[in-house]
Amino acid sequence: MTRNQQLFDRAKQIIPGGVNSPVRAFGSVGGTPRFIRRAAGAFVWDEDGTRYTDYVGSWGPAIVGHAHPEVIEAVREAAAGGLSFGAPTEAEIVIAEEIAKIVPGVERLRLVSSGTEATMSAIRLARGYTGRDKIVKFEGCYHGHSDSLLVKAGSGLLTFGHPSSAGVPADFTAHTAVLPYNDTAALEAYFAAQGAQTACVIWEPIAGNMNLVKPSAEFVQTLRRLTAEHGAVLIYDEVMTGFRAALGGAQSLHGITPDLTTMGKVIGGGMPLAAFGGKREIMECISPLGGVYQAGTLSGNPVAVAAGLKTLQIIQREGFYENLADLCARLTQGLTQAAAEAGVPFCADFVGGMFGLYFAEQIPQSYADMTASNTDAFKTFFHGMLARGVAFGPSAYEACFMSAAHTPELIDDTVAAAKSVFARMA
Ligand SMILES: *Cc1c(COP(=O)(O)O)cnc(C)c1O
Repeated sequence: MTRNQQLFDRAKQIIPGGVNSPVRAFGSVGGTPRFIRRAAGAFVWDEDGTRYTDYVGSWGPAIVGHAHPEVIEAVREAAAGGLSFGAPTEAEIVIAEEIAKIVPGVERLRLVSSGTEATMSAIRLARGYTGRDKIVKFEGCYHGHSDSLLVKAGSGLLTFGHPSSAGVPADFTAHTAVLPYNDTAALEAYFAAQGAQTACVIWEPIAGNMNLVKPSAEFVQTLRRLTAEHGAVLIYDEVMTGFRAALGGAQSLHGITPDLTTMGKVIGGGMPLAAFGGKREIMECISPLGGVYQAGTLSGNPVAVAAGLKTLQIIQREGFYENLADLCARLTQGLTQAAAEAGVPFCADFVGGMFGLYFAEQIPQSYADMTASNTDAFKTFFHGMLARGVAFGPSAYEACFMSAAHTPELIDDTVAAAKSVFARMA
């Protein structure tokens, strides 16, 4: 038995499923999750001592590479001064000012500890601000695990959703409509019928939780127009895309100013830190200024803020995003060519420092497209690559992440490994 297997067996005796977040259990690809001992730069090492080139990047945060010396030093320094005070600190102001400078839609900002908290709070705020109950999300988009967002689509376009998790009362999701991603006509039909009762639309402005799916320009423009016309708050959930698809997030690529933005992942640099922010008029509805309650014992944690602030400094250095995009282009082109040579149906896409790999003839535009892709082929690819020391996320529905610590040589090694996997798959 490998040490990974021993640890997985032991973990299952005390932690449900052996993991603290479900996708880590390798449920959809089978096999034994790798227990990570340490990470540095573009690599992670498991408990058996095997090194992997890592394209998971802690699901996005590790954009400057794992254990970046400057980030570690900032964390050390902050930790030595105390781990948490439950009182305001100067560093919180500095990071909030920094984020507002980078993200177009942020006039006021509050720090929280997870993306789930950020989206849950943003939705409460949108409801409090508008005095309306209904919210809209899109199929295949993930916004964390709060009750009203764990919803699958209802049977018709204008019906409201059903809970997608046990333990969520149907009443809690009765106000959540789920619409198809990239479907402008469905959006128009919804707003014509329910626009006046709708508090907000929350969306992934580039979807990264059903693999990578980009919105059409028409869909983006229609969403901004309809929410504005009906007085609904437009929430850009940039927990994944913020500081990742581009420095200023997807909103900077879209040329759109959302009403609220949620952020996480990269802003903590690997520590538990997230945020929500946006228009002053809306943000000032939260307590202590307004009637919408929101709080957190560890919110603005000094050690997490130190990691985040240093990460934000590094990503603003000259050429950072150009380099990430070059690396993503090199990898996606290399993989696409290798698959074509082997005759394996495959395509790939990227934006900034995130990319998607699809075992499909065409790049998916929606959740329906994505679920029609070949997940068995992905499983074979995933395990073939893992056996060759390359780690992608253990699910066909996850986007992949590049870091500044990856190099063109490393990308070429990944493509060479993929060639041998594709050859065996053909
Ligand atoms: C990861 C993610 C979340 C949830 O963040 P957690 O920190 O895991 O709670 C929310 N929205 C999007 C778009 C995400 O990718």
